[in-house]
Formats: sequence, C-alpha cells, structure tokens
Amino acid sequence: MSTLTESSLDPANAIYDFTILAGDPWMHEIKRGQTFRIVDVEGNQAADTLFYNAHDQADRYSGQDTIREQGALYLTTGTKLISTRGNTLLTITADTCGRHDTLGGACACESNMVRYKIEKRSMHACRDSFLRGLQIARPTWDKRDITHNINFFMNVPVTPEGGLTFEDGVSGSGRYVELRAEMDVLCLISNCPQLNNPCNAYNPTPVRVLIWDTV
Ligand SMILES: [Zn+2]
Repeated sequence: MSTLTESSLDPANAIYDFTILAGDPWMHEIKRGQTFRIVDVEGNQAADTLFYNAHDQADRYSGQDTIREQGALYLTTGTKLISTRGNTLLTITADTCGRHDTLGGACACESNMVRYKIEKRSMHACRDSFLRGLQIARPTWDKRDITHNINFFMNVPVTPEGGLTFEDGVSGSGRYVELRAEMDVLCLISNCPQLNNPCNAYNPTPVRVLIWDTV
C-alpha cells in the first residue's frame, strides 16, 4: 500500500521547466535544497533515471542500499535515495503515482532480444539513451557510469514467491513524483523508447521536468 501525497508547489514559479520527448535523454544538475519534479504527462510512461553526487562521479544512486535502508522494495513519498557511499542524494517529498520501480533495470538492445524477439535488436533502448545523454553532457564518462536505475512511474510488482513481473502501469496522465535534493546531484534520464512492454501501454510519451528553488 502507498499513500498519495500532493505538492503545493506551483509550476508557474519553477525556475526550470522542460519537456523530454519519448526516446530522448536529458541530463541536468539539481542543487542542494532545490525541488525536482517529474511529470508523467500522458500516463504510463517510464522515466529511467540515474542520480550522481555532482562532486563525486563514483558516488551514485544505489538501489540495493535504498531498499535496505527503507526496508521496502518500492519507492514513494518518504523514500531516501541512498548512494553507493551511503549518502542521501534526494528524498521523495510528493508522489501522486504511488509506486516506482528500482528492480527492473533499464532496457537494452540485448535484453530486448532476450525478452521480446531477436529482431528487436536494432530498436532504440534506454542504455543507448543514457550513453547519448552522457556524450552530450559529460563526454568523459562512459558505460561504467551506467549502473542500476530507478524506473519512475513503472510497475514491476514482486510476487509472493519472489518473482519479478512487468505489469501495466499504475500511473496516469499528469501524475508526478517530486524530490528534494539533499546534496548537489546530477540527474540523467532516459525517457524510455520501449515499444514492447505493457508498462507504458506500448506507447512512449513525453515527461516534463521542473525545478524550484525552495531554500
Ligand atoms: Zn527503456
């Protein structure tokens, strides 16, 4: 169960407002104290997301440490996103979707072949978008900097037997998740181009990102 939490922040007061088209990467710095919102504009989209300590390339989001520290598998309001060095990168402060995945990983050409069909190899995948985003924003970074990620708005329930399943999304048009940066962080998003997964109803759509100065 999860509790939906709305935000009082007004998009009209945001200092940054950008729409990431389906299949595009995006990378941006979020300063300590700023609030960051990702909006599922049309619903059931997956925003594959990586966070890094802006001052330490090797210190980045850790799904394992985050799950252990909160004692729960899904991410929602109150979740602290923990880094590989044990720092709190951001805290989820509002969530009108209610559940976000950090177990399913990002789609790749290789997993598309295994999961769907060998002919899917040439299709655009999140790992390609992550690398494209790095080439634009951090050209000296490479594949080693692409580690496990968060899938905002994606529904990957775990069965009572411990199985991992990819299901229809629980998100909807206009739902959002909001996070407060606890330190200066870099955010890298691949707005998932996946056409083979029911999580986004086989239809990739835009996500909107906003930042507020809240200190
Ligand atoms: Zn993807």
